[in-house]
Amino acid sequence: MAMKDKYEFWFVVGSQFLYGNEVLDIVARRALEMADKLNRGGKLPCRVVYKATVKTAEEADETVKLANFDDRCAGIITWCHTFSPSKMWLNAIKKLQKPWCHLATQYNRTIPDREIDMDFMNLNQAAHGDREHGFLGARLRAPRKVIAGFWQDASLQKRIGEWMRVAVGVAFSKSLKIMRFGDNMRDVAVTEGDKVGAQEVLGWHCDTWPVGRLVEYIEAVSDKDVNALMEEYRRLYVFNTKNLQSVRYQAKAEIAMRRLFEENGIGAFSNTFQDLYGMEQLPGLATQRLMAQGYGYGGEGDWKVAGMTAVLKAMSEGLKGGTAFMEDYTYHLEKGREYSLGAHMLEVCPSLAAGKPKIEVHPLGIGGKADPARLVFEGRPGKAIVVSLVDMGGRLRMIVQDIMCVKPIMKMPNLPVARVMWRAMPNLETGVECWIAAGGAHHTTLSHDVSAGQMRDFARIMGIEFVHITQNTTLEELEHELFLGDLAWKLRS
Ligand code: MN
Repeated sequence: MAMKDKYEFWFVVGSQFLYGNEVLDIVARRALEMADKLNRGGKLPCRVVYKATVKTAEEADETVKLANFDDRCAGIITWCHTFSPSKMWLNAIKKLQKPWCHLATQYNRTIPDREIDMDFMNLNQAAHGDREHGFLGARLRAPRKVIAGFWQDASLQKRIGEWMRVAVGVAFSKSLKIMRFGDNMRDVAVTEGDKVGAQEVLGWHCDTWPVGRLVEYIEAVSDKDVNALMEEYRRLYVFNTKNLQSVRYQAKAEIAMRRLFEENGIGAFSNTFQDLYGMEQLPGLATQRLMAQGYGYGGEGDWKVAGMTAVLKAMSEGLKGGTAFMEDYTYHLEKGREYSLGAHMLEVCPSLAAGKPKIEVHPLGIGGKADPARLVFEGRPGKAIVVSLVDMGGRLRMIVQDIMCVKPIMKMPNLPVARVMWRAMPNLETGVECWIAAGGAHHTTLSHDVSAGQMRDFARIMGIEFVHITQNTTLEELEHELFLGDLAWKLRS
């Protein structure tokens, strides 16, 4: 179900009885008008619903209890039209289990020079009320998002919309189920992690499933279903191979995996070339297609990147830039033209493709299986981020780097996989030094649609460490931040 149908956000306005019923009527009327105009502004992915003007602790409590247990409510947006004493919000905010945005705005854009008097001041004192409300959030160390500005401005509505997408990602994450075919690749460290810890913090339910079950599902796929999917492939892709048997096997694998996922409510999956017992090929095209449909994926048993990719795809639903599982492969170190080349053995999501992908069949040097079909394409240029989630022992660290994707500077005609080329911030050398200092993985989620700011908000809501490498980052500052972060997170846990 689309996020606009599945979720809504509650607009909860703070006030008190001090100013009389006439003022409260105006507050309620304006809150309804604001919710309506926010919805009609075209910048929000989900609806805002005016829920209550809170005047007592009991009302705050009741609203939050309802929000916590309403699956449609993906978060609350609070605002104080008047002054709203915040001790009455304290117990409610402590109970709140949904993402919280504190909107610091006011009904009127300007101060009316001639008309302003004390009645106007008492009605329109958001600057006063929002500070009291804000102190409580700070005092409780509550993970809130503060957005300040005039509510009718497109730029402010856009920020609310971006935060809503984060909140949708949080709701998705808390019910995400990850299917692991086989374990992590032998001897690899960075793809490992504490699955119970990840479930506790992020909500991910991550379990192993036998490859043999998948093989049974693959064998049960009918020729008719394969034929229909082959037609779809012909519409969407250029066939650059005569080996149709290989493509048909991938179609079977796609249908089989999708069936398994739908039957078990799965949102992400991982597999490993070391455990393909009974399969003819490593799923390449099949995995690429499933990612394009919104499933998260991680190679070599990397369930962490599978989960992150699924979350970013959920956050960016309906956007067109692309979000994919990625791997840093190799560098171009020519002075002044330094780039990273990202790809994977097979599995790069075609949501990144600059043109029409080609289906090709080539041998795969590892895994000992038949030549797998895969989609080959170039990634599109533009600003993007790469996101890595690593287990530091006792806690998760999210590392985000700003990157600029470019059209690959060479054709690479013998490279048999999809390829993406980018310039890491602040530059390749410092960017790599910072990434390695922070322990970032070779596997990442690359996204054109989700911003680093949104990932910061996600990390804040989930209570995990966030490290951001930007065009202004220096190694010295980053090392200092990591050192202090280590101390702080040890105290927290
Ligand atoms: Mn890999």
